[in-house]
Amino acid sequence: TDPALIRNFCIIAHIDHGKSTLADRMLQITGVVDDRSMRAQYLDRMDIERERGITIKSQAVRLPWDGHVLNMIDTPGHVDFTYEVSRSLQACEGAILLVDAAQGIEAQTLANLYLAMNADLHIIPVLNKIDLPAAQPEKFADELAGLIGCDPSDVLKVSGKTGVGVRELLDHVVQTVPAPVGNADEAARALIFDSVYDTYRGVVTYVRVIDGHLSKRERILMMSTDATHETLEIGVISPEPKVSELGLGVGEVGYLITGVKDVRQSRVGDTVTSAVKGATEMLAGYEHPKPMVFSGLYPIDGDEYPELREALDKLQLNDAALVYEPETSAALGFGFRVGFLGLLHMEIVRERLEREFGLSLISTAPNVVYRVVMEDGSEVTVTNPSEFPSGGKISQVFEPVTKSTILAPSEFIGAIMEICQGRRGQLLGMDYLSEDRVEIRYTLPLGEIIFDFFDQLKSRTRGYASLDYEPAGEQEADLVKVDILLQGEAVDAFSAIVHKDKAYTYGVEMAKKLRELIPRQQFEVPIQAAIGARVIARENIRAIRKDVLAKCYGGDISRKRKLLEKQKEGKKRMKMVGRVEVPQEAFVAALSTD
Ligand code: GDP
Ligand code: MG
Repeated sequence: TDPALIRNFCIIAHIDHGKSTLADRMLQITGVVDDRSMRAQYLDRMDIERERGITIKSQAVRLPWDGHVLNMIDTPGHVDFTYEVSRSLQACEGAILLVDAAQGIEAQTLANLYLAMNADLHIIPVLNKIDLPAAQPEKFADELAGLIGCDPSDVLKVSGKTGVGVRELLDHVVQTVPAPVGNADEAARALIFDSVYDTYRGVVTYVRVIDGHLSKRERILMMSTDATHETLEIGVISPEPKVSELGLGVGEVGYLITGVKDVRQSRVGDTVTSAVKGATEMLAGYEHPKPMVFSGLYPIDGDEYPELREALDKLQLNDAALVYEPETSAALGFGFRVGFLGLLHMEIVRERLEREFGLSLISTAPNVVYRVVMEDGSEVTVTNPSEFPSGGKISQVFEPVTKSTILAPSEFIGAIMEICQGRRGQLLGMDYLSEDRVEIRYTLPLGEIIFDFFDQLKSRTRGYASLDYEPAGEQEADLVKVDILLQGEAVDAFSAIVHKDKAYTYGVEMAKKLRELIPRQQFEVPIQAAIGARVIARENIRAIRKDVLAKCYGGDISRKRKLLEKQKEGKKRMKMVGRVEVPQEAFVAALSTD
């Protein structure tokens, strides 16, 4: 295709503002999917995505419109996947900024808009859901115009649901989004903006060609890994894969298949070139995915350990950001320490392990990565509280921080500031988007955000606040490790790294929780919370009263047998911590955040 006739664009939106619905309508209006085979959320193919209404994997669809070729590149909307979003944007020249006309701008809208502006994209402001009775198109057109510096009358108004305004939007894309520019005579350079594992075909790699040409049966080179492969198939998605005999030229968007079986060999952000006489310089901006949040995952039934390993191996084929290594816990047995991009990523992985692989799991409280500098100058990277150095030789502890943006109606400013201050936040600034809506920016430790911050924010603002955050380096902090001891023995699964000011509260709450969760034993069990050798909280589980069993000896044999059988059954699900029997449920309950 002549690059002059190509338009590459994406849709950026806050979750639920209607991106998938609008994409569906575009598929239908351009005739790519006929009315009969149309089903809701056509592009969100993974079940888990459809159920939760989120889009994890970006994809690209080719839409013919008015003599032009439109490539719609889907971007993931969530903060955990900012890097993926930035790569998808890099593949485009324009972005539709889609805002729910009943909700207005939200935190993710802003975050993604800034990314799009950084990538120099042409921005098309669009209000969606104008069919809703609660829509306030005039009010939010003003807000949107103020944000991107255009006239309110330049804001398009559509309904992805009814189709109103969607044709005009497609025309507008053709008229205003710049055609791609590249050099057809240079060595091939294509940007990988997504890579998906398919059971039957291996890895499907989505690319945007910048310069040159990629052909079928060509040896290609992945520049970040130096690996070469042969392109077995090359084509475009419209909306099913269609082989392109001519390959892909300047400005084109499509997929290639090389037979590799693991997405780590075909990484998002990498540059594809020809193996022979290829380009020497990679496209800018490649980053290796970096896990930000770690958690221990253990099978509830210890026998399922091999299945857990196998499931993680399989998930990794499709998720280059997922990392894990075996870990043993005295309390929980054999499991894995798993690294995630963020909280949503963690939830998705856990849910897939349970749902698709039928595993029942215990996960330890999530933690971030700490850098501990010792007095002798050596450094320890801590991804697990058990790795936190004990003894007094620590000189400094560093924790990751974020720049967080919260958008909410202005009546909630007080509540939001209270939550952020309580989590060691530092106010960076505040702006009014309109009379009654405000954007508040904070520096917040990532470790404070991953601990039910979002839930609290939602409940204190009746669901009206939205949050977005980006990594912003690290800061020194007064952090300590709190251990929980049963009968003098530390239970590794309950250790946590917390700020000094919160150590006492954590210790007291955990000890109280466990006193209620662990059944009485034949002897008294002290529960202690300690920092190093210093005990900061203490509870007691009193010994069982002897007469409970004694009563049964009266004569009712069957009742006694039942009691003993019940005990035996219960034992199977008990873990021994020293001499103390702790039921499996106690671990699950104590480790859950609510
Ligand atoms: P996404 O998260 O941005 O992909 O949003 P979806 O496309 O999944 O839409 C979120 C919800 O809004 C769904 O319940 C849609 O049916 C609804 N929705 C999307 N577009 C419209 C619209 O134009 N009008 C109305 N009334 N509802 C819409
Ligand atoms: Mg969606």
